[in-house]
Amino acid sequence: MTTPQTVFQVLSSFERTFSSGILCEDHLTECHLQLAWFEHLIPATLRAADGRVVEVIQTGWWNRESGPDFKGAAIRVDGGPVVKGDIEFHLDAAGWSQHGHEHDPHYNQVVLHIALRGERIITTAAGETIPHVALEGQLPELFHGIASVLPKHCCGSHPSSKPGRCAHEIVNLSQESLRELLRGAGVFRLMQKSARITRQIRRDGPEQALWEMLAETLGYKENRVPFRLVSRNVPYKLIRVCEQSRRDALLFGGAGLLPSSEITTWDDEARHYAAGLWEEWWRLQQTSSLEEITVAEWRFCQTRPSNHPHRRLAALSSIAPHLGELRDLFGRGEFAQAARVISFLNHPFFLRHHALHARPSSRVQALIGTDRIREMIINVGAPWWLAMGGEALEVLSSIRPSAENAATRLAAERFMGPCARFYKPTSALEQQGLLHIYHSYCSKDSGNCSLCTVPEFVKREAA
Ligand code: SF4
Repeated sequence: MTTPQTVFQVLSSFERTFSSGILCEDHLTECHLQLAWFEHLIPATLRAADGRVVEVIQTGWWNRESGPDFKGAAIRVDGGPVVKGDIEFHLDAAGWSQHGHEHDPHYNQVVLHIALRGERIITTAAGETIPHVALEGQLPELFHGIASVLPKHCCGSHPSSKPGRCAHEIVNLSQESLRELLRGAGVFRLMQKSARITRQIRRDGPEQALWEMLAETLGYKENRVPFRLVSRNVPYKLIRVCEQSRRDALLFGGAGLLPSSEITTWDDEARHYAAGLWEEWWRLQQTSSLEEITVAEWRFCQTRPSNHPHRRLAALSSIAPHLGELRDLFGRGEFAQAARVISFLNHPFFLRHHALHARPSSRVQALIGTDRIREMIINVGAPWWLAMGGEALEVLSSIRPSAENAATRLAAERFMGPCARFYKPTSALEQQGLLHIYHSYCSKDSGNCSLCTVPEFVKREAA
């Protein structure tokens, strides 16, 4: 039977066929689904395969790195409480298990699975069953039609987030007022970090506090948690008296990153080094109850070779003998000297290898590069100094901002919308302010900005 709906579908398909060329089935990708989601072309109320009604409150931000496709989303199921979490897309429902997500703890925060077609029970590695939506039959037209009008560049250079409500107010703010506002937020972030340091020093003592903080910074965004866990399981008081080989064994063993058998494809040097670590770790485990985290905690993709977790652990091991010196330098605000100490860290194996299994490089590469050292000064050194009563604000105002990364880009896109393209932070303090707004408001937002008070504040600043 021809209904108004099918007439609309045929006409719109016909129109697209001759205007932009309709996509055929073979050309559809998951990226089309993700882009349609990003552009809000998928209805905000959907029916899950088990009959429950899923209301989308916040579509989240588009994750271009490993892990779920959209993060920070918010949904409501059958009129229940708002649930925050991630969303994963596949063309076919079977993609969830085919890609191994049901066993991958990085997908434990997924609260909704959306596929173009197919029915499946979707469970996470934590044993949760999450709602699954099959879109076919729930869209106002065939998905091919929707996909055909999506921007041609698809996933590539598309922003990660839609502008938030602040973006409408920012345009009325002068450049100097915007920077002032961000610097104010930066001061707040610095004070929060400093208060955290004070609390941690009180609880664990200054050495252990600094050990954990430096470890966390070496974990980058992807491996902050496992680095923090390793630095707790292998505390500074245990490692400070050890020689390099034992420190390495403790850290690699505690990280669960030692191969349990000899790997014949590795070259002699790597096999010899890893075997030494394993023997040492095995002996240490016989005499003390050392905890080990699982390899599933680690992320290896999305990291540059020189930032491989193996190399970062080696850097942490090499920092240990200098920790007392770094504590004193941070405590006196002598950041240039602290940077020099970190830049000269040495390691017999990892100055020429980026991972245990990697072939040696012909040239020596610093264990920790200048960008990461700057991150350490910004995120650990400056708040540490403030906690000791130093003038850290001036320092942060004079330090160059970190290189742009996914977090700073996303923060600017959400807070400033189109203005983000023209915005360049002038100091680390300003950049910290942007991150503070993002982490304190945008990333916690489950109401599509409707519950947030920051736009009113920006408006007052602009008046
Ligand atoms: S969540 Fe708040 S701070 Fe972030 S863009 Fe929306 S209104 Fe602005």
